[in-house]
Amino acid sequence: MEKSSTHDTTTTTTTAVKTTTTTTTIKQSSRELPEPDLQILTSSGLRIPAHSGILASVSAVLENIIDRPRKHRSSEKVIPILGVPTDAVLAFIGFLYSSRLCTEEEMEKYGIHLLVLSHVYLVPQLKQRCVKGVGQGLTIENVVDVLQLARLCDAPDLYLRCMKLISNHFKSVETTEGWKFLQNHDPWLELHILQFIDEAESRKKRRKRFREEQSLYMQLSEAMECLEHICSQGCTSVGPYDVEPMIHKEPCKKFSTCQGIQLLIKHFATCNKRVNQGGCLRCKRMWQLLRLHASICDQPDSCRVPLCRQFKLKMQLEKKGNDANHARWRLLARKVVSAKAISSLSQTKRKREEVKEALGYNGITLRF
Ligand SMILES: [Zn+2]
Ligand SMILES: [Zn+2]
Ligand SMILES: [Zn+2]
Repeated sequence: MEKSSTHDTTTTTTTAVKTTTTTTTIKQSSRELPEPDLQILTSSGLRIPAHSGILASVSAVLENIIDRPRKHRSSEKVIPILGVPTDAVLAFIGFLYSSRLCTEEEMEKYGIHLLVLSHVYLVPQLKQRCVKGVGQGLTIENVVDVLQLARLCDAPDLYLRCMKLISNHFKSVETTEGWKFLQNHDPWLELHILQFIDEAESRKKRRKRFREEQSLYMQLSEAMECLEHICSQGCTSVGPYDVEPMIHKEPCKKFSTCQGIQLLIKHFATCNKRVNQGGCLRCKRMWQLLRLHASICDQPDSCRVPLCRQFKLKMQLEKKGNDANHARWRLLARKVVSAKAISSLSQTKRKREEVKEALGYNGITLRF
């Protein structure tokens, strides 16, 4: 008995030295505080003196424990916080006293324990900080354990972060002890993870397909802009009859597209095979661009693009006749217009550059 009490004192002294921050905080606050009226008992046997009023004001769970009637009224209240390292409990109490943010070092060492404590004792600010800190410290080795913890502690952000890491590095995660343990003990979670990976793959594929489609519609949208610009202001070699060609002027901003369309227009004007329907592939492309323009154009009366009005009339007839062709062109026109809207509304300049780079957009020569 005597031996054990000596041991206790030693532990208390060493820990007190180690955790000067906590002791100072408690001492500072205790200037206005009465004597500590309870003790926190840790798994190493350390008893940390504390104030019931402070603990109760930060944690509703601790308040409940403090208010619970005691067997022996006279005995001093002891609240055991076991199952986590003593230093983690000290960091936890330190937070309860000062609401100070945990240091990086504490987070690295005890983040997982502090997450559990903040969840069990309902301390949302600390829990938030832990979710962030533990999330930043995720590795291939610990991710499966943290995932399980995140589920137990009801931390959806952290859970999702773990899932994403597992999904992106599954080949490596599969070899960890954590994964093997999970396979043997939690087949439901294993199934859930595999399902998540599966869905992430198809999400990735959908996003890729969407980006490719958007890129095509953006090219068409740019072609439409160039067509209007050539037919109304004129560009380097093609322009309306009443506008001088700008042979000596600088090429316009979208010149790579614009030049292709100018060549196409020149070809279209002189091609011999144009009259034979489908005889010339280039003429057919020009024809499609002109038709697409008419499907989008909302000013047919003042429009200077060739055949715009004729196509509009044709479209009206098709609409009356419920022609399937009409619906197809309208859908294409809508997609081209919305691709432009999406790109100009939602993308900052930087993002646009990224997308261009990702899609190999620069230097694409339109195949008209
Ligand atoms: Zn131009
Ligand atoms: Zn031709
Ligand atoms: Zn038009």
